[in-house]
Amino acid sequence: MSDTDLVAIDCTEAGRRLWAYLDGELAAPSVTEMEAHLTSCAKCLRLNQSQRQFLGLLHDDRTPTGLEAQAAALREKVRQRLAEERARSR
Ligand SMILES: [Zn+2]
Repeated sequence: MSDTDLVAIDCTEAGRRLWAYLDGELAAPSVTEMEAHLTSCAKCLRLNQSQRQFLGLLHDDRTPTGLEAQAAALREKVRQRLAEERARSR
């Protein structure tokens, strides 16, 4: 048994969840799985970003620096959420 129920998702699954994720309609564990995938998959991160831009959610954050910054912020967010979920399931 692992200490977390999170599942590693692949690009197909990430693509399937993308719109729900951007719409904020994913359930919390799925969001964490999605974000975990985005931290490790540049392709899906970029797709996520271009869709976000398309939706007008991003403003002038389209530089590689912005991408890096968002990836770092995402990693931090995932770390926090994993810690929270571990603390909660104790
Ligand atoms: Zn991917």
